[in-house]
Amino acid sequence: MSELLKVTHLHKEFGNNVVLKDINLSVKRGEVVVIIGPSGCGKSTFLRCLNGLEEIQGGIITVDGLPVEADKRDITKLRQKIGMVFQSYELFPHKTVIENIILAPTKVQKRNKEEVTKEAIELLDKVGLSDKKDYYPRQLSGGQKQRVAIVRALVMHPEIILFDEVTAALDPEMVHEVLETMIKLAKSGRTMLIVTHEMSFAEAVADRILFFDNGEIVEETEDVKGFFKEPVTERAQKFLRTFEYDSALYI
Ligand code: ADP
Ligand code: MG
Repeated sequence: MSELLKVTHLHKEFGNNVVLKDINLSVKRGEVVVIIGPSGCGKSTFLRCLNGLEEIQGGIITVDGLPVEADKRDITKLRQKIGMVFQSYELFPHKTVIENIILAPTKVQKRNKEEVTKEAIELLDKVGLSDKKDYYPRQLSGGQKQRVAIVRALVMHPEIILFDEVTAALDPEMVHEVLETMIKLAKSGRTMLIVTHEMSFAEAVADRILFFDNGEIVEETEDVKGFFKEPVTERAQKFLRTFEYDSALYI
């Protein structure tokens, strides 16, 4: 597997608040990396740096060999390589599902409308929403909107997709359908970087776990089962103890 994302000595601060300290990470094509850690430890900021949404004060980030630099001319090209799905779906309320999905591929990527529409419908079908293509966002549940947001990212053909706590704002009964969609994507060979607080999902989907605390990668392992059974560091042990979860849920 070839290296798709590379981060070396990443340093990020807001004023004199240092948020990310010397982060080093390499993600191979097809790999699913899950980031967990306490609130405020820098997970969202990290994903935003990867996507060029935040200026960085040190280090280098490359995606497919292309350097990520916020506010540079290449950023549009780069954003097409990296998809991102957030906690809030940010669909346009006055556009239908299909209109929301085809907007960026036709306007930004200048792709053929019929072709993109066809692909969008196929993707909607895969997430169980082809019958909702002409609905408006307000006519959908939170879980359905989040699945539309995932399709909207996929249709851009990103090399890697970043997911930032995409189920955190959903009602409990809708969490499952979104996580199942992500598990399917992972199984189909997508490269994904996922921030989540859903521990049984993390255990099921991850090829590698990164435990962040206080702006640093405190523990990193490919022994995912071992990590959830008994992490090496005391900080990760303490963090995991705050979760009670059913590890059989997604396996
Ligand atoms: P997490 O996603 O792990 O909860 P965040 O990346 O959101 O953590 O935040 C990490 C730290 O960066 C926090 O101390 C937060 O207050 C700070 N921070 C995040 N965004 C900004 C911003 N735009 N301006 C100033 N400080 C910020
Ligand atoms: Mg966050």
